[in-house]
Amino acid sequence: MDRKSHIWTSVDYAQDGKQVSYLHLPHSVTRSAYGTIAIPIAVVKNGAGPTALFMAGNHGDEYEGQVALCNLVRTLTPARIRGRVIIVPAANLPAAMAGTRVSPIDDGNLNRSFPGDPDGTVTRQIAFYIDSVLFPMADLFHDFHSGGGSLAYLPFASTHEGPDQAVNARGLAALKAFGAPVSLVWRQGADPRYSPAAAMKRGVAALGGEFGGGGSLNRAGLAAIEAGLERHLRHLGIIEGKIEPQPTRMMAVPSQKHFVYAPQPGVFEPAQSIGDAVRTGDLCGRVHFPDDPARPPAECHFQADGIVVCQRHPARTERGDCVAHLAIDV
Ligand code: ZN
Repeated sequence: MDRKSHIWTSVDYAQDGKQVSYLHLPHSVTRSAYGTIAIPIAVVKNGAGPTALFMAGNHGDEYEGQVALCNLVRTLTPARIRGRVIIVPAANLPAAMAGTRVSPIDDGNLNRSFPGDPDGTVTRQIAFYIDSVLFPMADLFHDFHSGGGSLAYLPFASTHEGPDQAVNARGLAALKAFGAPVSLVWRQGADPRYSPAAAMKRGVAALGGEFGGGGSLNRAGLAAIEAGLERHLRHLGIIEGKIEPQPTRMMAVPSQKHFVYAPQPGVFEPAQSIGDAVRTGDLCGRVHFPDDPARPPAECHFQADGIVVCQRHPARTERGDCVAHLAIDV
């Protein structure tokens, strides 16, 4: 049975020129019987050529990509390009408007919703449209993230290692062209519900990245995205010009062992800072119990050698929260 998205748009993906419009997701509620959720989209096209698909606001509380893509929507002109650039700066719009990771409508985490469902919740409908309509048009997909409200990150661009070596190779070439100060490969296997995993399943070179976090806007992360977008377009031949090779620190996250989780609920005191090198067995941090001051803090330790690239941002922690993760230089 053919399953089709209910999302409609005035955008004609085959039309030359610049279109800034909306994806309308029907959302009939008391306040608005025939209402839609209007998710912004821009398509800039000039003749035949490759298609780049840039997305942000997959998680609503991650801002570097949202701002970089709004800037790109306003500045990119058809005359500058050959081919097509599709820009979705606030993919999970309800979450982006609320400044939350998940949608306030259905608690949906867009990056755990792929390949989606045309008849599912709002968030799963968004995923289905991206997967079934946008991914098939794309030669390159880049989804810009950060740590959001709960995590702080050393800014990096990233790619996942998937089962298709040809797709992995194209992803790695794009990662190098993007040229962020840190480039990271997730080796522990991509959850198929993630956007890059879904794109890669369709043969699209797919990148991600964590460009800051803590619910703020990281200036270095924003600068890395803006410079990288230009290099992406040159790499694809959408914009003319050579790519000056960028110094990038190549890193990898090898396994789940490189993540540390809070052993108890309480107040987490990190023992390291982002960027620090640690060894197996080193103290990651202590969980304190302000409601029981005589109780000694609970310690947690690193289970691998590596560099701290991510830390939990809020100190208040539940048992099972990720409090840090490592990457290694490669
Ligand atoms: Zn995210």
